[in-house]
Amino acid sequence: MVRTLCSYCGVGCGLEAVPQANGTYKMRGDRAHPSSLGLVCVKGATILESLGVNRLTQPQWRQKLTDEFQMITWEQALDILVKQLAWVRQKYGGDAICFYGSGQLQTEDYYVAQKLAKGCLGTNNFDTNSRMCMSSAVAAYQASLGSDGPPCCYEDLELTDCAFLIGTNTAACHPIVFNRLRQHHKRNPQVKLIVVDPRCTATAEVADLHLAIAPGTDIDLLHGIGHLLWQSDSIDQAFIHHHTQGFTDYVQVIQHYIPERVAQRCGITIDQLQQAAQWWGESKRVLSLWSMGINQSAEGTAKARSLMDLHLLTGQIGRPGCGPFSLTGQPNAMGGRETGGLAHLLPGYRQIENPQHRGEIEHFWGLPPGSIASKSGRSMWEMITGLEQNQVHCLWIVATNPLVSMPDLTRVQAALRRSPFTVVQDAYAPTETTEYAHLLLPAAQWGEKTGTMTNSERRVTLCPQFLPPPGTARGDWEIFAEVGRRLGFTAQFNFTSAAEVFAEFVQLTQGRGCDYSGLSHERLAQLGPITWPCPLGTDDTEAVNVKRLYLDKKFATPDGKARFAAIASQGLAEPPDGDFPFVLTTGRYYGHWHTQTRTGRIAKIQKMHPEPRLEIHPQDAYKLAITTGDWVRVISRRGQVRVKATVGEQMRLGTVFLPMHWGALWGEQMAANNLTHPQSCPVSRQPELKACAVRIEPEPAD
Ligand code: SF4
Repeated sequence: MVRTLCSYCGVGCGLEAVPQANGTYKMRGDRAHPSSLGLVCVKGATILESLGVNRLTQPQWRQKLTDEFQMITWEQALDILVKQLAWVRQKYGGDAICFYGSGQLQTEDYYVAQKLAKGCLGTNNFDTNSRMCMSSAVAAYQASLGSDGPPCCYEDLELTDCAFLIGTNTAACHPIVFNRLRQHHKRNPQVKLIVVDPRCTATAEVADLHLAIAPGTDIDLLHGIGHLLWQSDSIDQAFIHHHTQGFTDYVQVIQHYIPERVAQRCGITIDQLQQAAQWWGESKRVLSLWSMGINQSAEGTAKARSLMDLHLLTGQIGRPGCGPFSLTGQPNAMGGRETGGLAHLLPGYRQIENPQHRGEIEHFWGLPPGSIASKSGRSMWEMITGLEQNQVHCLWIVATNPLVSMPDLTRVQAALRRSPFTVVQDAYAPTETTEYAHLLLPAAQWGEKTGTMTNSERRVTLCPQFLPPPGTARGDWEIFAEVGRRLGFTAQFNFTSAAEVFAEFVQLTQGRGCDYSGLSHERLAQLGPITWPCPLGTDDTEAVNVKRLYLDKKFATPDGKARFAAIASQGLAEPPDGDFPFVLTTGRYYGHWHTQTRTGRIAKIQKMHPEPRLEIHPQDAYKLAITTGDWVRVISRRGQVRVKATVGEQMRLGTVFLPMHWGALWGEQMAANNLTHPQSCPVSRQPELKACAVRIEPEPAD
């Protein structure tokens, strides 16, 4: 039996792969895994099926996008790739090379990619789909608490008195987190569950208080609650005095958020607002959870920081059962952050624009000073604009399907058609993105390679290989390392195993906020999953598995004090108007994973969610003469979608919902991101994928 981790979402549930008499494996939940206690959702239960279909098994190449792909050998593929990288670097400089990766990558893959891109190729243009997932949470933790890294753990789900869920459909997107919280809520009727979401989701259905706020009014709501807490003196003066800065500025802002006006703007009653503030104020332990509904916004960092403001105002942090807890979407988004896998980061939570941090990494990697470029690289959307402006000459996409997940897909398609050289390194083909590739590199999937992943509660799990990769597929880190060696960096990439890669990476975290230096593959195999920080020399029995951060109330800022944000609300980047009178919000179904490259071929999940549906309120549907099952056309300033409607009270008036899982491979005009826009948070550079203005037109039936 092999102990491993579900590689779908950031919950990070433990799995056991049990060998069967016929040579196959059967998956089941690992009861010994502290994050999930043996629980799994439908994705985890069917994960093995995702390895058996639609696999890319051999490198393929074509000169032009209009040509047919030709099967080639790895030798030929690496030769083409290395020549192209060297040529682009020499002719246009490192900045013309971009990598777009994924939170599906394991920590070892991420680390070797950072060394190749930022160290050896001199490009900081390494971004991942985490930019669209939780980069606002990263920026908010950094600004408010001084360092990234959620301060809470899943055990807090069972210790809280009041769970405040905002912008997260946890029941659908983080099912096992929700399961643990829901059991606690059921067993303890005094525990309050507040859910803030414009849509009455499966999460909101079981809430004690559902605040169906108008999209874009999150900061209004949070400041309104802050105002009521401050007005009623339900605040922790001692905590504010000793452990925070910026309280006066915060009060200056929130005093203008008059509760009656806030309730009106949010579209809720004053009683609901007061109830939320009262429960927050009188609870000993308030745990807030959030994900895309907060992060995917042009004011995403401000929203996440405004939520943290409430924790600072009431001293609800650094104790069991409370704190601001960002739920990551991808299975290894956390590990990616810690290896420096975003365009502004270097390993060990170092910042690219900090000369000392660059110097430390260059020295460690054995590279000359100045090897790492001094400016942060391009975010994912800036790679698209770089293609539009002929500034990007090589785009290397790894383990992700941006031709479904990026905003404004028509523009992304046009940009990719201009790309002089696009590499897609993936386990699967065809995808919507492989249609735009010149070179395809087959990658081994989870279970076919050894590596580690870190889940939302900072828990690192070793995922050993237990299956052979199909055809000639290779591990992602092995591909990056081979390219590095062929570019002449033999000393930097002389790894012979994933364990060696991990051993090198952890040295760069020593003494840093995310200290992995006491971890190794061997120790993880021996002790099972371990949370960071785990400094070198940590005893097996005592300090290992630090559950919470900031228990001493010393934050990671220079003076040890957390910072109030005190930021006023801006509202939606694209509010509805006469031409586009509805707000479209996008989201996910319980069974599907992102762009369906994996779950789209699993019969059980397909049966659960066979098609995307536009959800619309009965009064809006009545005015448009739409009933459930009718075809509708959803139109924004950027594109169109043609889907069937589902009429239901779960939607707010004036707000409609579409799932984001469908792309062009499933049919013409099914992709929700045909409609969305790329306006982004100026701090985190995360696009506002959650809201755009649309109009709805009834369509003739087929
Ligand atoms: Fe996998 Fe997430 Fe489901 Fe757990 S909750 S089994 S990690 S998809």
